[in-house]
Formats: sequence, structure tokens, C-alpha cells
Amino acid sequence: MSKNAVLVINCGSSSLKFSLIEPNSSKVIISGVAERLLSAEAFLKTSYAGTKTSTRLNPPFDHQTAVDVIVAALYEHNLVEHLLAVGHRLVHGGESYSQPTVIIDAVKQRIKELAKLAPLHNPVNLIGVEAAEKAFADLPQVAVFDTAFHQSMPEKAFIYGIPYKLYQQHGIRRYGFHGTSHYFVGKQAAKLLHKPFRSTSVISAHLGNGCSVTAIDNGQSVDTSMGLTPLEGVVMGTRSGDVDPGIIFHLIQQLNYSATDVDKLLNKESGLLGISEMSNDCRTIEEAIINDEDARANLTMDIFCYRVAKTIASYMASLSHFDGLIFTGGIGENSNLVRSRIVNSLKLLNLELDETKNTEVRFGKSGLISKQGSNNCWVIATNEEQVIAEQTYQLISKDK
Ligand code: AMP
Repeated sequence: MSKNAVLVINCGSSSLKFSLIEPNSSKVIISGVAERLLSAEAFLKTSYAGTKTSTRLNPPFDHQTAVDVIVAALYEHNLVEHLLAVGHRLVHGGESYSQPTVIIDAVKQRIKELAKLAPLHNPVNLIGVEAAEKAFADLPQVAVFDTAFHQSMPEKAFIYGIPYKLYQQHGIRRYGFHGTSHYFVGKQAAKLLHKPFRSTSVISAHLGNGCSVTAIDNGQSVDTSMGLTPLEGVVMGTRSGDVDPGIIFHLIQQLNYSATDVDKLLNKESGLLGISEMSNDCRTIEEAIINDEDARANLTMDIFCYRVAKTIASYMASLSHFDGLIFTGGIGENSNLVRSRIVNSLKLLNLELDETKNTEVRFGKSGLISKQGSNNCWVIATNEEQVIAEQTYQLISKDK
């Protein structure tokens, strides 16, 4: 039996997504998500051969429990013998990893050290790695880093305007995130253009609960809106994006906020949620605009869209030529209203939407939504799992 499938694991603090993918055919054999981990309500939803099942998890309701149930499902459907390797989404690879990497002890140690740059992400990602190692001791485990694609950024894009020694001594610089998604949609755009990726220059806007915009010049990330952490950049679901750092001192010195309070405010209470005082969910804001003509919801949407448009326009300074703009992520793939408001501010970049196409290309569809004569604007549904599966497969096949 041929070993041609990769198990992709994306481990969050209370969730674990998995998919078993055949990279050569892009076929997803089985997939699912465990949610509410570490609580008595923990469950695993699985989709296999058109059938969806939901299983309550047993104590201790943790990531290992979820992996054990996933392994049992793989055995039940005789899928284990297809498995070539396990590919993991790792958030922060710092400057150490610009490529997918086989996880050996030294790599795990480095990922732990890098947790000081991503305390919310790297430790939980490692829990997924260790659970998979226990379940599949004989299989190679591969890390694919969210930061890796952005390692091609030039110094002028990643060094902050603060003393250089903070970069040299403590690694304080811009790293960028969502790299796997930007890489995937950039490559898809190259296919649509019938050009090699290495000569394709696009701007991709990954707009979901987290949002980032990336300038891809001749196939390489040359600038991106997230920074040392995913807090920098455009306005997001609950994150503020860029603010005057002076606000932080004002909150602490004048309004008696603690550092923890400021962290919570900027990461969890700001963005769409903080401005609208309604929701972090773009759909709720859109409904309030359309149904109730709610002025605050309208303002929230305007701020969100204007910030994204400004970032896109600023990336003209980063590109050698411009092949088009890509929307992806939950908002980018689905909200014709957001796309319309963003592109309406970009007429000077010769970007104009065909509103019929803009309304049609939603809900997992991909396609061109710009008018004839305009620069290209596409919606491209992202697929980070496919990239992780492909890169894992390529690395393991090369090593053999
Ligand atoms: P993600 O983090 O990529 O899963 O994206 C989550 C965001 O996508 C949330 O703000 C959702 O409101 C938004 N979203 C999902 N579906 C739609 C839709 N049909 N219209 C507008 N926004 C949507």
C-alpha cells in the first residue's frame, strides 16, 4: 500500500484541527476539529467520506485525548498505512526557520526558546507535536512555520525605529505571520496569471479574525503588516492593529492600567469589537449596517476598510511591478461589502471591481472580481493545510 498521505495538525490553546491529505492530488481524506479542549464540553467533529460525526471526549479532555480519538478514527477507516508523515503548523520560527523542518529534539528546544516571542502560540503548538509523536513514534514530524515565508523581507522592512541593539541582543524585529496563507494565495495568483511565481508581484490581504496584508515581489514576501507579534498592522477582530505607542504610557501612567490590562485591551477588546461595541464578527457588523443602518457599525467598517486600503496603497513602495490584489481569509473570501469599500479607495491604483462578480465570488469560491481594464483583483480561498501537507511531503520525499 502506498504511503502518500500527510496528517496535518494545527494545535490551538483549546482547539486542534486535523486533516489527512494526499498532497499530490490535494485530496482531503478525513478532517475534523476538536474544540473546547480542557473543558468537560470537549468534543471532536470529524468529516469522512461525506459523513460528519461528533464525539464527546473523555477526561482529561486534553489535546492528547483528541489525538488518541483521531488515531482511533484513522485505524477504524484503515487509513494509518497511508501515512507518510505528520505536518504541524508552528507559529513562530524566528530567524531560525525559513523552510519546513523535520522536528528533532534540537528543533523542539529552539521552538521552546522562541516561545518568548510567541508565548500564546509556540507552547500549544508543541503540545500537538508531542501528542502526535506519542501516537506515531515511527513517523517523521515536520514543522511548517507561519513566519517562514516572511524571512525574505529586507532589513529596511523588518527593523523597527528603536535602538538596533534590541534587534541584535533580543531579536526584536518584525517577523510577520499568516505566511503559509500568503504564500498559498500568491502561488495561486501566479497560476491564474500563467506566470512563474518567481516573477509574480501581488499584494495579498488575509482578512479573518486576524488580518494581515503582504507585499509579494517576484514570489518573495518583501513586507507584511504584522510585526514582532500579530498585534501590529491593520485593525482586526479584537486586536487594535497599529496605535500610537504613547497610548500605552497614557493608559498606564494616567489611567492606572497595568501591563496585563493593556495587553488584554489591545489584543482582546479592541478592533471591530472595541470600536463597534457590538461584535468582533464581521457578519454581525454587516447585518447592523444593512438592516438597522447602525452608524457605529458603519464607522467600524469604514475604519477597518480604510486601514486595509492604506496599507495596500503603501505597498506600492515595496513592489517592482503590480500584478494584482488578492483577498483571502473568512472576511476576504466572503464579504463583498468589505472588498467593495476597500477597492473603492484604490481607484488611483487602477483597481475597480465588477460588482456582479464581487457578489458572486463568495463562500469558498475563487475568481477574478475586477472590471475589464482594471488591475487584477482576485478572491482566492486560502488552504494552509494543503501547503503544510505539500511541504511536509516534499521534505520527507527529498530526505529518503
Ligand atoms: P477566519 O479567522 O479566517 O475564520 O475569519 C473569521 C471572520 O470571517 C469573522 O469576522 C467572520 O465574521 C468572517 N466571515 C465569515 N463568513 C462571512 C460572511 N459570509 N460575510 C462576512 N464575513 C464573514
